[in-house]
Amino acid sequence: MLKIENHRLSGPGVSQQPTPNTGGLLKPRFVVLHYTAGRDTDSAVRSLCTRKPQGNASAHIVLGRDGRIVQLAPFNVITWHAGVSNWAGLNGLNPFAIGIEMDNAGLLHREGARCVAWFGKPYPDSEVLVAEHKHGGGVRPWHTYSEVQIARALDICEVLAAHYGIEDILGHEDIARRRKVDPGPAFPLNAVRSRALGRGADALPRLVVAAASLNIRGGPGAEHPKVAPALKRGAELILLEPQDRWSRVAVVGVTDLEGWVCNDFVERQAVPRSGLTPLHRSQRQVPAITARKRTRAAPARKAATPSRTPRPR
Ligand SMILES: [Zn+2]
Repeated sequence: MLKIENHRLSGPGVSQQPTPNTGGLLKPRFVVLHYTAGRDTDSAVRSLCTRKPQGNASAHIVLGRDGRIVQLAPFNVITWHAGVSNWAGLNGLNPFAIGIEMDNAGLLHREGARCVAWFGKPYPDSEVLVAEHKHGGGVRPWHTYSEVQIARALDICEVLAAHYGIEDILGHEDIARRRKVDPGPAFPLNAVRSRALGRGADALPRLVVAAASLNIRGGPGAEHPKVAPALKRGAELILLEPQDRWSRVAVVGVTDLEGWVCNDFVERQAVPRSGLTPLHRSQRQVPAITARKRTRAAPARKAATPSRTPRPR
């Protein structure tokens, strides 16, 4: 159980390691998630606590693959993790954003049959997700996050959201769109965001793939490129934006995959789950729910009695 006292986190597996790389006062409105693109937790902490002649970097938290949390600065003090960034009309997010660096090697590359990090370490297939980033760039190998790390990231985001009324939980990739790709497709950012903010995806309608396989595309029409391998029958989807013939959906699971599917091959998942009903034309006419507007509209209000749905796997 994590707690915040005097802008510091406490709880099992939490330690403090002050960094000299800090600025003025921070007004927490956002949480920004990163990957370290590094070898391990200790080297990330060392680097973020070191003054460097060519530009200093830091963050509030380093989250290890074993779930260990190292806090480098209080949450009301600016750290330097966002860089050149834009969001919600703001230029430069550091004065408004708590930064969490997750130990992860990041984008890998192939050397023969192996997937290797930029610093030369190879990773086994069990720690590699091959996927396209939501902002494109082709299908590439990414280092996966550990389950305990994802669960702890959610714990941290929940306690920050409840304590500070955080407005949104973002990826570095969202606020520095052409420059950064972290935390990348291996991190379930949408699921963590909706659960930590107590709204969003859990409240959105669910669909299930009703064909043997179904293409998921970059836009509403067969002329758009596929964004991932075809979905299999029974795959669960969150309906983000229904249109007449196509719907924008998020695929339920570990990856943060979003795209468009043809309505003819999905069914609405009724509650209770036993009563699956086809997605009739009348149901397709529901006004477009734009998940992005919903999730960014109002300041975070944590549900009084959060329903404990299973955590992302
Ligand atoms: Zn980053």
